[in-house]
Amino acid sequence: MKKHYLLLSLTGTLFLNAQNGQGFYQPKNSICLSQEQRQQIQEEIANNRDILKSQGKLTENKKLDHPLFIWPVTKNPNTEYNNVWSISNHVDHNAAYPNKLQDWNCGTRTYDTTDGYNHMGVDIFTWPFGWEMMDNNKAHAIAAADGIIIGKDNGNFDRNCSFGNGNWNAVYVQHGDGSVSWYGHLKNNSLTSKPVGSFVSAGEYLGVVGSSGNSTGPHLHFEVYNSNNQLVDPYSGSCNTWNSSSDSWWVNQKSYVEPKINAILTHSDVAVFDNGCGVQETTNFKDSFNTGEKVMVYMYFADLPVGKSINLKLIRPDNTVAYNNTFNNSNFYYASYWYFTFQSSQFNQYGTWTASVSVDSETVTHNFVYGANMNVDDLEAKKQFSVINPIKNNQLQIVSNTMNSSKSKIEIFSLDGKLIDSKMVELKSGSNLIDVKLQKSQNYILKISDETRNEIFKITN
Ligand SMILES: [Zn+2]
Repeated sequence: MKKHYLLLSLTGTLFLNAQNGQGFYQPKNSICLSQEQRQQIQEEIANNRDILKSQGKLTENKKLDHPLFIWPVTKNPNTEYNNVWSISNHVDHNAAYPNKLQDWNCGTRTYDTTDGYNHMGVDIFTWPFGWEMMDNNKAHAIAAADGIIIGKDNGNFDRNCSFGNGNWNAVYVQHGDGSVSWYGHLKNNSLTSKPVGSFVSAGEYLGVVGSSGNSTGPHLHFEVYNSNNQLVDPYSGSCNTWNSSSDSWWVNQKSYVEPKINAILTHSDVAVFDNGCGVQETTNFKDSFNTGEKVMVYMYFADLPVGKSINLKLIRPDNTVAYNNTFNNSNFYYASYWYFTFQSSQFNQYGTWTASVSVDSETVTHNFVYGANMNVDDLEAKKQFSVINPIKNNQLQIVSNTMNSSKSKIEIFSLDGKLIDSKMVELKSGSNLIDVKLQKSQNYILKISDETRNEIFKITN
């Protein structure tokens, strides 16, 4: 039987013009677990509990307070992303269906289906580039509180983007009071090596966020049961009538709308977010640019409100600001991006540049090298030469700060990287005058190199 569900739009680009713009990503809803699958899991973990109890590996004390959770998704410490997730769905508290929605905050950030399923967990999706993140293990599911692993499901395909796709990969953790948290849709073979019956502490790795089971893209489905095996929504809010009014299960409950800068990255060309089911996105990541190349700077956000002010800066290797633009966010999405394209003429210094984005009091930066073909990546290095600028009488004046003379190659480039002049010279200690033929009032790049070093200068004729 083929079922049809209302799907949200997937991705979109709202162009300002061909080279600058904004867009969004909105994951499709995913049923996460069929009723039969949820039943099977309940039986599996009940069975495991009995075995573990008989082995003395599991005890519970229902008189204990319920656990307080930390956030169950974290970034791999090796990723440079600032944040790796946003929320697509909360628990649906409105038992009616279809399209009768109410989340803990009385909003509709949840879903249900025509056959009576009301979403039973929190869906935390990865952003940006969820498939790429999954392939490179960038987003981890972690234990939200201390507990004992009472079940693990592994061995299931993990690149799904629709319903009816068999079982998920998951870890189930029982906490001290007997409550249980579920971590579903994990990447195949990424699960913690700890066996069922092992203790895990809050924050401990459980697996990589993936798209196994009934999933429309990489996300974690986090589902919670109390010590009486009743479904829990960990958020406290006026439309969560299951918990007493101020009873949050979070150590620090996050705001319903929490603007986040997920990343600022540089790319060689436009990023392609949807290459089809389970196919890695075309990221076009690039951090090292040659002269003449354009640089595309993308800023990735989660939950950014309309009107929120965004500041983008490009900072030169010498820490001066080359570009400074403040603009307002114009649409609200769970996941969105803004991008700007900078042509080679913008890059009048070679070395390590910084792209910097600020929203409210938060600033996130990304470094990239411009002029990589000049063999320069650190202009902070102590220089052997200095150059008198601007040039006078078509004579370049180079001062050598060392005692020894050196045979050096002099190259002069236009700002877009074309070689204008090149010659070998003997640079003596002190001042050296070298004849050059350059156009008046133009900027150039001067490269001085010998066997051991390259030095780069901006010069003006
Ligand atoms: Zn879910």
